[in-house]
Amino acid sequence: MIDIILLGTSALLPLPDRALTSAALFCEGHSILFDCGEGTQTSARKHGVSLMKTELIALTHYHGDHILGIPGLLQTMSCMGRTHKIYITGPEGLHEAMKPILELTDFISFDVELITLPEEGLKLCELINGWPNGARLNAFKTEHRVPSQGYCFTLSRPGKFFPERAQALNIPVKLWRVLQSGESITLDDKLINPSDVMGEARKGIKIIFTGDSTKCESIINASRDADLLICEATYGEESQAEKAQDYGHMIFSQAAQIARDSNVKKLWLTHFSQVMREPSQFLPNAQKIFPDSICCHDGMRITLKPDD
Ligand SMILES: [Zn+2]
Ligand SMILES: [Zn+2]
Repeated sequence: MIDIILLGTSALLPLPDRALTSAALFCEGHSILFDCGEGTQTSARKHGVSLMKTELIALTHYHGDHILGIPGLLQTMSCMGRTHKIYITGPEGLHEAMKPILELTDFISFDVELITLPEEGLKLCELINGWPNGARLNAFKTEHRVPSQGYCFTLSRPGKFFPERAQALNIPVKLWRVLQSGESITLDDKLINPSDVMGEARKGIKIIFTGDSTKCESIINASRDADLLICEATYGEESQAEKAQDYGHMIFSQAAQIARDSNVKKLWLTHFSQVMREPSQFLPNAQKIFPDSICCHDGMRITLKPDD
C-alpha cells in the first residue's frame, strides 16, 4: 500500500494557499520526498503529515522553487533530534547545487549523503534497511532549461506462494521466506527456484513524478501503464503552448496527451503558474483528451493498493 500527498502545487512563486512543488510518498513505514520547494514543511504541518522520517529526497532539478525548502526541513529534523542519515539524489550537478544548502546546515545532527541513482534504478532495500523487496526508484531524463529528471517509483509484487508445492518438495518452513523474497535455495544438492513454489508475478504499483519539463517521449515511455502520473502542467490555455515550450513547461492538454499515450490510470496536474488562480477552470482542456485528469491542490492525497 502506498500513500502519496502533494505538499506544494505552485510554480515559481508561492501563494497563500499554494506552496512550491513537493510530494511525499509513504510505503510501509518508509518515505521519499519528491522535490522540496519553499513552504514544504509548513504545508506538511498544515495537512497533518510528518516528514521527520523522510529517508530520501529525490530532486527533479535545481531551480529554487524545487529545492529552497531543504535547509529549513533539515534544520527542523535536527531540532527534533534526528540522528539517522538522509539521502539526496538528483540529476547531474547535485554536488554543486547542494553545496550552499549543506553549508547553511552544517550544524545538523545527522549525515546527508548525496547519491546518483544507478541507470537500472535503485532497489531501495539495498540502500535503506526495511524497504519492501519490490520497491524501486528509477530516474528518467526530462526536458527543461537545465539538467532535469523525473522519477518512477514501482512496487512490484511476487507471484502467489503455494505452500502445498513447498511441502511436496520437502522444503523446511524456515526457508519459505527465502523463496518468497525471490532467492533460490539449494536443498540436498538440488537447486530450488522461487518459480517452483510461486505463481506468475502479479501487477504491482507504479507512480510517476515528472518535475518540470516540456512534453517529451521519455515521459511517455517511463509512464507506460502507470497507476498515477503526477505531471507538471504550468499553463492551462492552448494559447500558452509557445510560452510553455520557451520556458520548458507544458500546458494542460500536453500533460493529458502524455497520460493518454502512455495508458496511465490517473493524471494529476500540478505545478501551476501563479497567474493561474483557479486552475480547475482550465481542466476541460485536459479532460477532453484524458478524462481521468484532476487539478491538484496542496494536501491532495491518495492511497494506492494493488488491484487484487
Ligand atoms: Zn518549477
Ligand atoms: Zn524549473
